[in-house]
Amino acid sequence: MENFTVLLELQIREFLDRANAGKASLSDEIIEQFAEDCKQAIQRQFSKKREYSVRMSGLGRPICQQKMERDGYEEEKSYNDVLRFLFGDVVEAITMAVMRGAGVDIADTQTKVTTNIGDSEIAGTLDVAITDEHGLPKVWDIKSASDYSFTNKFSKGYRAIEADDVFGYIMQGHLYAEGYQAPFGGWIAVNKSSGEIAIVEADYTEEEHEAELKRAKDILKKLDGPIHKRPPYDSIEEKDTRNRLMPKPCTFCGFKKHCWKNAEFHPKVTSRAKFPPQVWYTKLVDK
Ligand code: SF4
Repeated sequence: MENFTVLLELQIREFLDRANAGKASLSDEIIEQFAEDCKQAIQRQFSKKREYSVRMSGLGRPICQQKMERDGYEEEKSYNDVLRFLFGDVVEAITMAVMRGAGVDIADTQTKVTTNIGDSEIAGTLDVAITDEHGLPKVWDIKSASDYSFTNKFSKGYRAIEADDVFGYIMQGHLYAEGYQAPFGGWIAVNKSSGEIAIVEADYTEEEHEAELKRAKDILKKLDGPIHKRPPYDSIEEKDTRNRLMPKPCTFCGFKKHCWKNAEFHPKVTSRAKFPPQVWYTKLVDK
């Protein structure tokens, strides 16, 4: 598939090059579809129901986090979350418009899929299925990425995403693929700040796909259990201080104040930078 991935990226880049040069445009039909996608995105983000359900998009996240959601614990939110999610949806709508303009062979988009994992039926909505050079569809997920995650994660490929997958992107892709009964193609990642696009191929074996489905089954089983008494992750010793840093999965979690009562967001104590990065501490005694 390496070739298809490279060609897809090239096809999109060439179209954007031509658009930059004033030699390509989008049809009225594509623009209308883009407007419709944006309309649905803003309606979705401003009328969110906070009901818990197991979804393909969330099953790969930390189990402790999913249980807290299940039991209705209050999640810490920021006022800008709604806009942050809306940006993601609009970036996805832009990406779809660009791919349509570039003539990418789109087999399906925003398709609802289900699959049985153990005794449970689990649902999701895949972003896009694209027909490859052999005429076969593959499932792709569009991700709007920060500059940091675009550079350090998506640009480094499937194994880099797998190694640091606190949002469960790998499982999400495999479950969509299983629901659609087609291979998982990978991610179409868009850098929100620069507009760069990376096509990241999902490079996996059939055994790995099966292992991912088995992992999903195990997680579903564990989701029946009670909430953790102590966080299942260890805090991390900060070198040369008595402080402890928050484990990575917790730094992205809206329940951190429940699990780490003394959590503090503070400039990194050991940093020598003029403007030290802000990091989460679970214990901050040396400042
Ligand atoms: S803060 Fe950490 S331990 Fe607590 S629910 Fe979130 S990920 Fe799990």
